[in-house]
Amino acid sequence: MLELCDITAGYDRRTPVVRGISLTVAPGEAVGLLGPSGCGKSTLARVAALLHRPDAGTVILDGEPARRWRHRAPRDLRTAFGVLFQQPRLSADPRLRLAELIAEPLRATGRRREIPARVGELADRVGLGPELLARRPHEVSDGQLQRACLARALVLRPPWLICDEMTAMLDASTTAALVAVVESYRRESGAGLLAVGHDRTLLTRWCDRTVRWAELGGSAERPRTR
Ligand code: ADP
Ligand code: ADP
Repeated sequence: MLELCDITAGYDRRTPVVRGISLTVAPGEAVGLLGPSGCGKSTLARVAALLHRPDAGTVILDGEPARRWRHRAPRDLRTAFGVLFQQPRLSADPRLRLAELIAEPLRATGRRREIPARVGELADRVGLGPELLARRPHEVSDGQLQRACLARALVLRPPWLICDEMTAMLDASTTAALVAVVESYRRESGAGLLAVGHDRTLLTRWCDRTVRWAELGGSAERPRTR
């Protein structure tokens, strides 16, 4: 169970962008969170994936509050999450090829021996052939890069996926292809999904349940800038 309890978060304590939001995702469940641009969805998604520390409230993963994990390796904990963003991000190192970028989480966790089989299998699933795998991020399209990001997000078989406007930059056919990859992974692994976005048609079709930001107890308004 992934529980977000009364989360307040932002970038400056005086003007939080997420205020008192609570949301639960059951194991294997796909929850879509809908809200207008700028309301705080990405911030909440980053809190859920333990990438951004909330100012108040608690993230509870399978009954254990994330706060307690601070003294354990947060890096290990974060392997519980596969995270996808709107803007495909792979690495700051422009020399790495897509195959190496997909393999990176395996290398970082000491599982080098699994790399050839696992990268091959995932490349197949997301539709990247050997020629594309040998290219560098600046040599492929946004759609191809997002395919590589999805492969990398799945490489450690995470029990949770957090998708933040994963398909917002993609055309309809790439969107359908990537959603199908996520869904086939979820069917076989039982992974839960939190997908945030603004596209109601997409999220209602994709997810078991959709909730609107305004229903979560937080404020749907943009924070005051003054
Ligand atoms: P959404 O995903 O719903 O579009 P975000 O969580 O990206 O919303 O942004 C919510 C608010 O937080 C916006 O007003 C945005 O400008 C602000 N914000 C987002 N990221 C940062 C950041 N890194 N530093 C400061 N403010 C930010
Ligand atoms: P950023 O400003 O880059 O968003 P933060 O200052 O929010 O980063 O800190 C993120 C770090 O906080 C993460 O590296 C993680 O180790 C830790 N963290 C994230 N979520 C939690 C949490 N719920 N409880 C305790 N620590 C957390």
